[in-house]
Amino acid sequence: MALEKFQMLIDGQWVPAQSGKTFDSYNPATEQPWATFPFADEQDVDRAVQSAHNTFLSAAWALTTAAQRGKLLRRLGDLIADNTSQLAELESRDNGKLIRETLAQVRYLPEFFYYFAGLADKTEGETLALDKPDMFAYTVREPLGVIAGIIPWNSPLYLTAIKIAPALAAGNTVVLKPSEHASATLLELGRLVMEAGFPAGAVNVITGYGLPCGDALTRHPLVRKVAFTGGGESARHVIRNSAENYAKLSLELGGKSPNIIFSDADIDSAVNGAVAGIFAAAGQSCVSGSRLLVQQDIYDEFVSKLTARAERIVIGDPAQPETEMGPMATKAQLETVEKYVDIALTEGARLRTGGKRADLAAGWYYTPTILECTRHSDTVVQEEIFGPVATVIPFADEAEALALANDTQYGLAAGIWTQNLAKAHRMIKGIRSGIVWVNTYRAVSAAAPIGGYGQSGYGRECGSDAINDFTQLKTVWINTSSEPMADPFIMR
Ligand code: NAD
Repeated sequence: MALEKFQMLIDGQWVPAQSGKTFDSYNPATEQPWATFPFADEQDVDRAVQSAHNTFLSAAWALTTAAQRGKLLRRLGDLIADNTSQLAELESRDNGKLIRETLAQVRYLPEFFYYFAGLADKTEGETLALDKPDMFAYTVREPLGVIAGIIPWNSPLYLTAIKIAPALAAGNTVVLKPSEHASATLLELGRLVMEAGFPAGAVNVITGYGLPCGDALTRHPLVRKVAFTGGGESARHVIRNSAENYAKLSLELGGKSPNIIFSDADIDSAVNGAVAGIFAAAGQSCVSGSRLLVQQDIYDEFVSKLTARAERIVIGDPAQPETEMGPMATKAQLETVEKYVDIALTEGARLRTGGKRADLAAGWYYTPTILECTRHSDTVVQEEIFGPVATVIPFADEAEALALANDTQYGLAAGIWTQNLAKAHRMIKGIRSGIVWVNTYRAVSAAAPIGGYGQSGYGRECGSDAINDFTQLKTVWINTSSEPMADPFIMR
C-alpha cells in the first residue's frame, strides 16, 4: 500500500525537510508503515523558529488585541469540533489509541481553546501599592516570544491543546515538535490553525526525532520557553539546553501513581476506577494508576474482581468501537513492558493474570497484566512502565497506605477510594502529588491544573494560572512629583 506523504508547516507553507530526508510512521495495529514525514534537522528548526520570531514581532500578530486572539481561538475550537471524526481516526491510526478514546478526547478538545479564549482578555497586570508617595507604578503582562512545544506520542492533540491555547491567548508564537511516532494529527491541527485565520508563522509544526530536531529546537537562542511533555531522560537534556538559551521550562513527565483502595470503598466502583487507571490507553498514560494499594481485609475480593474484569477486556483493532484495549504504540514500548514483567518475576512477584503478548496475527499487543508484589522496593513498583501492568500491594491501615503512596520519586497523581470523608481529607493532605482523585480516576478539565511533584516535573498546565506561565511581567514606574529630578551627586 502506498504511504501517505506529509509535509511540515513552516511560515504558513507546507514544506519538505531542506535535506529532503523523510522517516516512516508505523500503524501499531498492523506493524506496517503507513505514512512518511519530513526528517527535520537544525536548518528546518532554524527556519521554523525564525518564522515564529518574525511573526511575534510583526504588526499582523503583535498588534492583535487580546479580544481578537480570543476570537481566533474560539474559531479554532469550532473548526476542531467540525473535524472531530477525521482527527480522532488519524490519531488512532498513528499511535494505536482506541477510536473510542481518541473520539472522547477530540470531542473535548475545543473546550481548551474556548477556556483560554475566555482568559485572553482577562490576563492583566496590576497597580502597585507603593511605599513612595511621589511614584505611581503598575505591571503589564507581556508574552514571552517563541514557545517550543515538545509532545510525546500517547495523546498528541490533547497535550498540544493545553500548551498552544494559553500560549496563543497570551500573544506568543509557537513551534511544535510532535513525537516521531505520532506526528500526523499535529500537522492536521496546523492546517486548522491556518484556516482559523492565525497569521503565517504563529504556529509552525516540524516533524523529526529528539535528535537532531528536538535538541536543536530546545536550545535555539530565540526560544523563550519550552513546554515539554515526555520522559525523564529527554527532560534532563532539555533542562541542560536551557542553560544555553535561558528558556523558561515547564516539564510534564512520568509517574508511578498510587491508586489506594480502602476497605470501606464501594468495591465495584473502585474496581472500575482501577481498570480505568491502568488499562485505559493500555496503560500508556502519564497519570496511570499503576501502583494499586489495597487494604488487607478486602484484598482477596478486590484482586479477584479486578482479575476477572482484566481477563474480560476485549483486545484488538483500535479502530473498532467494541475494542477495549489496543496495542502498545511502538515495538520498543512492547519490549519495555516485556522486560519489566520479566524483572518482576525474577524479583519474586506473583503473576495473577496476563504477562504475555496477546495472541493476535499482527500488532504490538500485550495482555492486561496484574502482578502481586510483596516489597514496595521492587523495580516494577518503583519505575514507570507505561504499559498495561498493575502492581498490587496490600496495606494494613491509613498510616501504612500513606507511607507507601509517598514512597516514590514521582508525584503526578493519586487515587483514593473510601466512603469516609474525613479519611479522604487526611490522605489528601498527606499525599505528595500534583493531582488527587477521590472516588474517581483520570478526570480532566480545562479549568483544572495538571502537573507533578518531584520527578514528575514542574509547572502546571490548564487552569487559569497556566496563561501566566506564558507571560512575563513588566514593571512601569512613573514619577508623579511636581519637582524636577534632583542631581544625584549633590547632597542636600
Ligand atoms: P520521550 O521523552 O521519548 O519523547 C517525548 C518528546 O521529546 C518527543 O517529541 C521526542 O522526540 C522528544 N525528545 C526526545 N529526546 C529529546 C531531546 N534530547 N531533546 C528534545 N526533545 C527530545 O517520551 P515518549 O516516550 O514520547 O512519552 C512517554 C513519556 O511521556 C512517559 O514518561 C510519560 O509519562 C510522559 N508523559 C507525561 C505526561 C504528563 O502530562 N505528565 C503526559 C504524557 C506523557
